[in-house]
Amino acid sequence: EKLGLNEIREAFQNFYVGKEHYKRKSFSLVPEKDKSLLLINSGMAPLKPYFAGLETPPSKRMTTCQKCIRTGDIDNVGLTARHGTFFEMLGSFSFGDYFKKESLIWGWEFITQVLHMPEDKLWATVYQDDDDAFDIWKNVIGLPEERIVRLGKEDNFWEIGTGPCGPCSEIYFDRGESYSCDNEDCKPGCDCDRYVEFWNHVFTQFSRDEEGNYSDLAHPNIDTGMGLERLACIMQGVDSIFDIDTIKYILDGVVEKSGIEYGHGKQKTDVSIRIITDHIRSVTFMIADGISPSNEGRGYVLRRLLRRAARHGKLLNIQGPFLVQLSERVIQMSGKAYPELEEKRDYIHKLITIEEEKFSSTIDQGTNIIAEYVEQLKKEGSSELSGEKVFKLYDTYGFPLELTQEILAENQCTADIDGFNANMLHQKETARAARKSVDDDGWSEENLEFGSGSKTEFTGYKTTVDTGVVK
Ligand code: ATP
Ligand code: MG
Ligand code: MG
Ligand code: MG
Repeated sequence: EKLGLNEIREAFQNFYVGKEHYKRKSFSLVPEKDKSLLLINSGMAPLKPYFAGLETPPSKRMTTCQKCIRTGDIDNVGLTARHGTFFEMLGSFSFGDYFKKESLIWGWEFITQVLHMPEDKLWATVYQDDDDAFDIWKNVIGLPEERIVRLGKEDNFWEIGTGPCGPCSEIYFDRGESYSCDNEDCKPGCDCDRYVEFWNHVFTQFSRDEEGNYSDLAHPNIDTGMGLERLACIMQGVDSIFDIDTIKYILDGVVEKSGIEYGHGKQKTDVSIRIITDHIRSVTFMIADGISPSNEGRGYVLRRLLRRAARHGKLLNIQGPFLVQLSERVIQMSGKAYPELEEKRDYIHKLITIEEEKFSSTIDQGTNIIAEYVEQLKKEGSSELSGEKVFKLYDTYGFPLELTQEILAENQCTADIDGFNANMLHQKETARAARKSVDDDGWSEENLEFGSGSKTEFTGYKTTVDTGVVK
């Protein structure tokens, strides 16, 4: 019998409790005192005060399973087997206590002795200059040298500006040749889905100063992060994180609702089904953590994810509201591990209902307007929609910029982003002057981390499925 995602989480945390780690529940997705971050995106992010020595941790060893959102991965969602905007990160941490050796040995013990992963499918990467880590893998753990890959700074060195930083070592699972890409040199670090990176061990042993000099930290730290969904994907022997027990249940809800068959790989309808499945997870967890839809900061991230999910529902020809039912599935799957979902159930349902209704009444209108704009552009022999019009769609019709870009891209058109930004700035200044107080918009200037949207390789659904919605 295969371990379910919820059981794997428990196995991990029990293992580290057995190694005298203090088990703490996930922090909120909303950073507490960290203005540099819009949403928590890793297990270590909420622990920064401990790593920086600003606060004393309850224990020098800790384990968490942290709710994470990475909007920067949004363009990957539905296209790779391993990315979601929402995921859970299993973590083990040492605040100046144990270091590399214990971290790697225990990690190996967990995956091979507790989870019984086949050793011959496991690979490790180390930072090119990190001979210590290489030596531990080769001589202490006994991993054959051919499966230890040295990688450069880009892949295996963790740092953000100045302060604590250091090399890392990542563990990969080889899913086999059938997943290989065309690249002859396909190995861990390759972007395809054959070698799945699932566990990152970060060794914060240096401090970087303003001039770029590195000095040794008196008390080096350990920060490891393992994607729970990826781990479940490996353990359950399925194709993608969307096929694991808990997520599959949500995906099945989308399939039921749309009546469209699922399982054709990269086909557009499959991608839409996965996007909806992922986004409803983010949406449900974000609302449970107190975020509500708005036009800036976290609220805008939420709105964008929700509306994007709603729109992909339209692309699949789903009639009427459907997101509440799906969020109920999220609550059913994760409510035990995250009681806040159960506690906020009614509120989550209410917010989604309101937002979906709001959007539903404007989406057809907005889509029609974009269609008209596109037609006009084509007549003029142009392919770029003016910033003014893009802004109007955003401001008057509540179309997130990225959604407009996505629809334009489907029609081989683009949006004038500079013009859009200029309009946005103008409106903000006007609003600010009128308001004269800043109230709660400390985040409004934030870069939302979203990809440009133009990267999205959507070329329209017309070729694969006639949805009757997008023209
Ligand atoms: P990738 O290279 O696959 O994008 P990463 O190197 O960005 O992953 P890390 O920052 O090292 O990821 O995060 C630690 C772990 O969290 C990863 O090894 C992976 O298991 C998991 N993880 C990272 N991003 C995602 C995501 N978008 N969805 C699901 N799991 C993720
Ligand atoms: Mg990544
Ligand atoms: Mg990586
Ligand atoms: Mg990584």
